[in-house]
Amino acid sequence: MRGLIIGRFQPFHLGHLEAVKWILTQVDELVVAIGSANVALTFRNPFTVGERIEMITRVLKTEGLLERVHICVVPDTGDMHTVWPAHLRHWCPHFDVVYTNDLLTRLCLEYANIPYRGIPFFKREEYSGTLIRMLMARGSNRWRKLVHSEVSAFIDEIGGVERVKKLAQIESVI
Ligand code: ATP
Ligand code: MG
Repeated sequence: MRGLIIGRFQPFHLGHLEAVKWILTQVDELVVAIGSANVALTFRNPFTVGERIEMITRVLKTEGLLERVHICVVPDTGDMHTVWPAHLRHWCPHFDVVYTNDLLTRLCLEYANIPYRGIPFFKREEYSGTLIRMLMARGSNRWRKLVHSEVSAFIDEIGGVERVKKLAQIESVI
């Protein structure tokens, strides 16, 4: 049995890691599908798909999970939500069931009769991409505790915080 988790992972945080570990107690193998793969250098999607592949690979390798996980990328279909499930099938290795808490993702999957299941939320008030990007933009170091040390090291290597700050300025987010 193979599950799939779809997310933008901007960035990959400890909630995602807990979700991956939990799903791997339910299925034999997991596909980690990186959504909005075509989008980068925006405040909501600051990291490129290549950077996201690298952070996820580094974490899963360190945690010894890579053997049971496949990583793939899924570009957006814009407003054509009806074709998105076929698009997901096109871009991903075979999967039997999708794990998602996202309501629009669930609606799209229901439309195409693709089975999905929920994921228990892990410390959702803290483990949130939106919160992490906001903390970076505000110059707070609190985000470091919300991601794996491999992710904070990688973000430092690529100057990720400076990038997020500039994007917040450009888009008048703060
Ligand atoms: P953003 O705030 O940018 O939307 P996010 O934290 O929701 O980021 P996504 O990449 O959008 O992260 O989420 C991918 C998947 O992981 C979604 O199904 C989402 O509901 C789930 N997820 C996100 N945070 C957690 C968490 N803390 N615990 C369990 N699942 C989570
Ligand atoms: Mg989300």
